[in-house]
Amino acid sequence: MKFFSALLACLAFFAGAARAEIINGRNYVSLVNWARANSFTGWSRNGGTEFVLTNKTARLVFQKDSADCTVNGIGLRLSFPVAKGGYISQLDADKAIRPLVFAQNPSPKKITTICLDPGHGGKDTGYRVGHFWNAHSEKTYTLALALELRRQLQSAGFNVVMTRDHDSYPQLAERAEIANRRGADLFLVLHFNCFTGDPSAVLGPETYCMTPVGAASSNDSAGAGASSRAYPANRVEEKSLLLAYQVQRALVKNLGATDRSVRRARYEVMRLAEMPTAYIEGGYMSNPVEGKKIFDAKYRQQMAAAIVRAIVNYKKLTDPTAPPPKSNLPSAKKTTSSKVRSVK
Ligand SMILES: [Zn+2]
Repeated sequence: MKFFSALLACLAFFAGAARAEIINGRNYVSLVNWARANSFTGWSRNGGTEFVLTNKTARLVFQKDSADCTVNGIGLRLSFPVAKGGYISQLDADKAIRPLVFAQNPSPKKITTICLDPGHGGKDTGYRVGHFWNAHSEKTYTLALALELRRQLQSAGFNVVMTRDHDSYPQLAERAEIANRRGADLFLVLHFNCFTGDPSAVLGPETYCMTPVGAASSNDSAGAGASSRAYPANRVEEKSLLLAYQVQRALVKNLGATDRSVRRARYEVMRLAEMPTAYIEGGYMSNPVEGKKIFDAKYRQQMAAAIVRAIVNYKKLTDPTAPPPKSNLPSAKKTTSSKVRSVK
C-alpha cells in the first residue's frame, strides 16, 4: 500500500508535466521538464509536498510553496518559492541551480590572492552581546577570525590582503575597492550574527552571495529590491554562488553546525567587488551555546580551517589549467532536507 501511494505520487508528479508557464507574472518551468532536459531522475514524496531530483553527483530536494531547497543536503534559499505541483522559477533554474550543479567556466587565472574583510571596526562595534562590563563586540571576533584565517591561508600558500588588520573602520564601498585595487581573486566578508527574539531559538552559519538582477534578496520580505539595477558584482554572481556554497558546506560539515543555508543579498560591501565574493555570517553570538564557541579561539581556528578547505575546493573546481570537472558537487549521498527557519 505504501509502495502504491508512492507510485501514485510519482505518477502525479510526472503527469502534471507541462512546458514553461507564467505564474505570478514570472516564467516558471516544471521540475519534470527541467529534470528531463538535464538528465535528472525525479519523484515526489510526502504526499506530493517534496520533489527530489537526482543524477550521479547531485541530489536536489524542493519543497512545495517554499523557497528553501537543499543541494546535496546543504540549504539554498531560492529567489522565488516553488509553485504549484512542482514548478521552479526560470530565474532560479538558471541562476541558483545550474551554477551549482554543472561545471562553470574556469577562473580567468589561478586563485592566489584572497582579500579578507573583518566586518565593522573602530566606532562601529557591530552586534554587542552580554552585559556592559562583559560585553562581546562583533568587531573583535570578526578581526580575530580574519587574523587566524590569514595565518592559515598563508600557510596554505595564498597571498592575503586585509581591508583592516586592526580596530579601524574603512567605509563599506572602500572595502570592495581595496579588494579590486589589490587584484584579489576572491573576497571574503566576515561577520557574526545576532537574533533579537529568543536567543536559544536560532543558531548556525549563513553564507550570502550577490542577488541576481530581477530578484529580491533573502531578507527583503517586501520584495523592494527586485527592481534593483545590476552592480559590478553581478558580473561574477554565478561564481560567487559557487564560492558561497562551498563555504557554507564546509562550515556545516566541518563544524557540525546547524545549516541556515546559502542566501542572497546586495550588501553595500559586496556590490562593487569585481571578483567572486562570499559574505559569511559565521554563527549567532546571541545563542548561548554557539556564542560561547564563537568567543573561543579554538573554535575560530576550526572555522578558519573550514573556510580554507572551501577555498581550496573552489580553486580546484575553477582551475584554468585543469580539465573542467564533471560536476561542482561531490557525489550525492542520500540526505534528508534540513529544516531552515526564517528569521528577521
Ligand atoms: Zn556584522
